[in-house]
Amino acid sequence: MAAYILIVEDEEKLARFIELELLHEGYKVDKIGNGRDALDMALEKDYDLILLDIMLPGLNGLEVLRRLSKEKSTPVILLTARDAVMDKVSGLDAGAVDYITKPFAIEELLARIRVTLKLRKSMGDNSETTSPENKNSEEGIYHWKGLTLDEKKRLVTYDSHEISLTNREFIMLETLLINKDIVLSRDTLLERVCGYDYIGETNVVDVYVRYLRSKIDDPFDVKMIQTVRGVGYVIRSEEE
Ligand code: CA
Repeated sequence: MAAYILIVEDEEKLARFIELELLHEGYKVDKIGNGRDALDMALEKDYDLILLDIMLPGLNGLEVLRRLSKEKSTPVILLTARDAVMDKVSGLDAGAVDYITKPFAIEELLARIRVTLKLRKSMGDNSETTSPENKNSEEGIYHWKGLTLDEKKRLVTYDSHEISLTNREFIMLETLLINKDIVLSRDTLLERVCGYDYIGETNVVDVYVRYLRSKIDDPFDVKMIQTVRGVGYVIRSEEE
């Protein structure tokens, strides 16, 4: 069953664009441009995920989020304006699971939607929220060549040799594997690996990639994590 997503965005062009992309991905979608109506809809229907703009007519996004999270635990990704640091902080306080800064690349939004839906699923929610294209995951197990990552057992092996990873290395590898063939920016990886409140340089990400390469690429003579110059990192399907 396709995941059911509510888009709350008053910029009609942007809302329409996101709607078309999500429909194309096979999700079921509603969209609304008013905060008050959005809250009513979110309370009435069982959405798997809500994309929520902050500056909205009727009721602002943070207020929608605050009122909604008293009643339900629907995951919310906030759509925030560029560099609106306060919005991010208050949004996360109010219960949003993620945020994305406008303008964003649609691929990045889609990647975050997949991760959020997957997270919700793995947290024991029994509604079916599998993204239609997320075929590489089977019960939280990911493969790349001889490598296997088992999310539940928190175990990584290569050709049945166990690879010992730190918590952050594990999350980094998992994030890249879940989003196979999608280039992830350093910012995205940084948030996943270090959390939103991390203050420091994004080259921390490069450091973790270097650790992972020293533990996987070097001993097994492969090139798993590819650098995309000026953008970030990606793990590509083994066919390529
Ligand atoms: Ca707006």
